[in-house]
Amino acid sequence: MTGNSDKPVIDKEAGGEMNAGGRGGKKAVFLDRDGVLCHEVGHLHRIEDLKVIDGADEALKTLKNLGYLLVVVTNQGGIAKGLYTEKEFWAVLRELERRLGVTFDGVYFCPHHPDGVVEELRKDCPMRKPSPGMIQKASEELNIDLKRSWMIGDHIKDIEAARRAGVWRSILVLTGYGKEMLRRIVDGEVELNGGGPHYIAQDILFAARFISLVEEKGDPIEIAEGDRGEVRRRARM
Ligand SMILES: [Mg+2]
Repeated sequence: MTGNSDKPVIDKEAGGEMNAGGRGGKKAVFLDRDGVLCHEVGHLHRIEDLKVIDGADEALKTLKNLGYLLVVVTNQGGIAKGLYTEKEFWAVLRELERRLGVTFDGVYFCPHHPDGVVEELRKDCPMRKPSPGMIQKASEELNIDLKRSWMIGDHIKDIEAARRAGVWRSILVLTGYGKEMLRRIVDGEVELNGGGPHYIAQDILFAARFISLVEEKGDPIEIAEGDRGEVRRRARM
């Protein structure tokens, strides 16, 4: 990719039709990488440091079988910081796919960082989460209906990016930074900017099973809102 472009990187090899986005499109699960699919080790770039989260392979199989596109959206500011290269990022990503037994439908990463040392990558990029740029771009390029889509992340930045893009539901997993995020949310240390995660799950496998249950039995939030509507209607009678 051209490092100084605002455009995120789409993995064309992985497939994905370049249709106009919008409603009537496909449903997708947006996945943060570190702390969701693999363990958070801080600027992961060496294959020997790559450790897949238990059950992530089964989780992705479940989501794929439900008809979801699997789209990775990941901040890679370490590239701007000169800690590793785009080539090393892709090597880790390919190995992750191999171990998970999947080919992602899209891989979007933002190599920029406002404190980068690589001059052409030093900037506050609209693609960088918590900004919604990568999700919006994916939705246009892969024809994703965000109103039928989910985000699974371990950081409030993932949740905020999803909300700002208009993703239907988000799940905070408790792997990676997740537990610390939950503690900070509970202690009021996190600025939720108008919305926290819709749901919380132990890890990506529980998140996938939950999405499967929602497909089968309905969405608890919608059901609860319906119940409240029912209660309100009854109260007026
Ligand atoms: Mg993460």
